[in-house]
Amino acid sequence: MTNTIIVEAGGHWAGVVPKGDTLTIVDLKGGQGVDFLCYNAEHPEERYHAPNTLKAALTLKLSAGHKLYSDDARPIFTITEDTFDGHDTIGGCCSEVSNEMLYGVKGISGCRENFLKGLKTFGLGRRDIVPNINFFCDVPVNDERALKDTVFVPSKAQAGARVSLRAEMNALAVISNCPQVNNPCNHGNPTEIEITLTAAD
Ligand SMILES: [Zn+2]
Repeated sequence: MTNTIIVEAGGHWAGVVPKGDTLTIVDLKGGQGVDFLCYNAEHPEERYHAPNTLKAALTLKLSAGHKLYSDDARPIFTITEDTFDGHDTIGGCCSEVSNEMLYGVKGISGCRENFLKGLKTFGLGRRDIVPNINFFCDVPVNDERALKDTVFVPSKAQAGARVSLRAEMNALAVISNCPQVNNPCNHGNPTEIEITLTAAD
């Protein structure tokens, strides 16, 4: 059984993915960043932990076979399929305050505000936001461990790029379809994405 949802440009989605089920995110038009957080749905104080994930993967860029580990060092999701190969783990989410810090624009909300809307549905809030994954985003690091001025470079995701995540526990997933237009992460033109939930056989 599958359930497909369209998340509009700049929109958000939050939901529980039962253990064994698969969440697939499709970048329908290409070049769209998708910010992602995940939690143990039953005990959300256990949540995605970037350092554990990176230390297990031995890379800053995630792809098929990598697991999204929690702060309790347990896998929340496994990336089972991926046509993008190299999802960002260090750029974090955009926000109203970082948009002013980085780009000098005021009152422009971002993924952090989307996360807050999604988390609120599940009784969670600001204290539950941790550094997130950016699916279909590219944050290059050079040989001197430096970042580019723009941090994000234009996504190489083609139309139809997809990543599939199998839940390794009953998992709460929170997604922000990034509204950013001040850096190249969405090619200056945020577009809709598709989410598909597929039940285990
Ligand atoms: Zn964003």
